Amino acid sequence: MAELKTAQIVGTPALDGKYIAEMDQWPLECPEFNRNYVFYDNLRAGRFTTTKCKKCGHIAFPPGVICPACWSEDLEWVDLPKRAKVVAFTETLAGAPAGFDCPLIIAWLNFGKDAPLRHLLARIINCPEGKLKEGDEVQFVVFEVPAHPIDVKKETKICERVFYAFEPVKK
Ligand SMILES: [Zn+2]
Repeated sequence: MAELKTAQIVGTPALDGKYIAEMDQWPLECPEFNRNYVFYDNLRAGRFTTTKCKKCGHIAFPPGVICPACWSEDLEWVDLPKRAKVVAFTETLAGAPAGFDCPLIIAWLNFGKDAPLRHLLARIINCPEGKLKEGDEVQFVVFEVPAHPIDVKKETKICERVFYAFEPVKK
């Protein structure tokens, strides 16, 4: 009699079985997969950056490899402000997508009228449910995301990952 094999869910071992790779919400950050990998290298160094066009001066976010204003590929990396004020926000208290804990807070931020980036839609972490208020000051924070194995030239490489969010400034 043929031995029955237990069905296995093929996923990302590094994610501890929390969810399968196909549901992974986080970008691959290696140069082999992502031409904006400099953004993530800068995150690892604690820098919040984006691309600025050397030709027309346009600053885009998220960063890109081509200027959306003039199509130039001659871009440079510039630092963005790390503090902002909350203009409006939503809190998801149940049923957040895989990979996110509740409350999942998404806020529309204002960096001030003189900042290179005026507004940004960003996630707020390290904030209990019901505590965030409009007008609160938040600060940039980098956090680790579970590493992801990727195949590069027939070898498996572990892609270490980080991502950014904002958190309330402690008063
Ligand atoms: Zn441009």
